Amino acid sequence: MEKRQIPYLDPRGRKVKILATVGPASRDPEMLLKLIRAGADAFRVNMSHGEHATHAETIAAIRAIEKDLNRPIAIFCDLQGPKLRVGKFKDGKAVIRHSGHFTLDRNPEPGDETRVELPHPELFGLMEKGQRLLINDGKIQLKVIRADENEILCSAVVGGVISDRKGVNVPDAEIPIPALTAKDRKDLAFAVEQNADWIGLSFVQRPEDLAEARKLMGGHGALCAKIEKPMAVRRLDEIIEMSDGIMVARGDLGVELNPEEVPPLQKKIVNKTRIAGKPVIVATQMLESMIESPAPTRAEVSDVANAVYDGADAVMLSAETAAGEWPEEAVTIMDRISAQVERDEAYLDRVRFLDTPPDRTTADALAHSCMTIADTVPIAAITVFTGSGSTARRVARERPSVPMLVLTPRLQTARRLALLWGAHAVMTRDIGSFEEMIAKGKRMALRHRFGVAGSKLIALAGVPFGTPGSTNLLHIVTLAGDELEKYSQ
Ligand code: PGA
Ligand code: MN
Repeated sequence: MEKRQIPYLDPRGRKVKILATVGPASRDPEMLLKLIRAGADAFRVNMSHGEHATHAETIAAIRAIEKDLNRPIAIFCDLQGPKLRVGKFKDGKAVIRHSGHFTLDRNPEPGDETRVELPHPELFGLMEKGQRLLINDGKIQLKVIRADENEILCSAVVGGVISDRKGVNVPDAEIPIPALTAKDRKDLAFAVEQNADWIGLSFVQRPEDLAEARKLMGGHGALCAKIEKPMAVRRLDEIIEMSDGIMVARGDLGVELNPEEVPPLQKKIVNKTRIAGKPVIVATQMLESMIESPAPTRAEVSDVANAVYDGADAVMLSAETAAGEWPEEAVTIMDRISAQVERDEAYLDRVRFLDTPPDRTTADALAHSCMTIADTVPIAAITVFTGSGSTARRVARERPSVPMLVLTPRLQTARRLALLWGAHAVMTRDIGSFEEMIAKGKRMALRHRFGVAGSKLIALAGVPFGTPGSTNLLHIVTLAGDELEKYSQ
């Protein structure tokens, strides 16, 4: 008898996930499909650029591919946040002299080498002598000499070319701007309407910023706080507590702080988020040189590898896939680096170097057992039955040696888990009985190539089925030869 054609993509063979930013270089449906085949698990739609109509097309294209491939994909809508920018210049740009003076003011007239408009009234009267203003990713460094309601007079510690609408960072001041600008509110409403799985909040400063976003989300989507302000680092614990996931936004973080402060912070943020059992994404400049070159630098390869060794849930590509010349190659390289690290016999020890003691709950006791069982006897996969995805997060938190096949009746859960370490989510109908659960777990493991005849699976579930927080059942099953026959045809 001829074998049934299995329409599913093979499991990734790695546990860390790849989040690829979509942009002009990749929004074409053919390229999106290539990126998924190359290893992208989730896509970031960056609301800082582009129109809603274009984003809607991109999202529709991703959803169409998702349906074709029968593989849940997460869509991460990233809100721009209160990114400060200067106004415009007479000639489009000007040169700020080293150790010269430069004034930011409220005059909308085009700027020159002595001054430019700063169209953010909140900053006047707030900046103090000695505080820094960093322009164009920190390339220009200004220090405040004097500031009043109308003018901020600065000396240029580092000068350079400044041009229209360049970004401004003010690392030394807490800005009384809400984390959600008028544009963010519109973008958030759009993201909700588009059924985004994750919403990223940029330049979070306080836990209240997240509360505000959460209210506007009205129960839709998961909320990811981007850590890119020193103020957020100071209140990290509360921010992690208020979020569903965290991004180490190294681009702006390295401007707001010194770049050398970022690596230790990356480890601290990854560790704290892992202990909380929430997904953490390491982002920005991971394969930066691949914007222009088909091969990465050794340093970039090491950077991706080290994020994987740190046990991050996901690694991210920004301009590499959004605007670069080699989007598919960038994903391929990231996939190869990750898989190689995870094949290292020292990998699990390194990842588990972080102590994540289980909470004193039944769910955590069982999640922890899944990890120890898979370390003790050969197990092909942990089959997790979950509605909200919470059980899968608690198992992933243990960083087990084998992949998780997550079975859920909720599409929203399946998609969201595309950013969770080690989770391969599959949509299934609700299950009603223990026997049905076991049969389905076996069938899905075979169909999705997690096991062969003789493989052992761990099944983790809660009885009664469909009751949140009821995780109380761990069962070990062996796939039999006749089942292989029965299910794979
Ligand atoms: P961005 O965020 O790409 O939206 O700026 C990431 C970062 O700052 O690293
Ligand atoms: Mn940023």
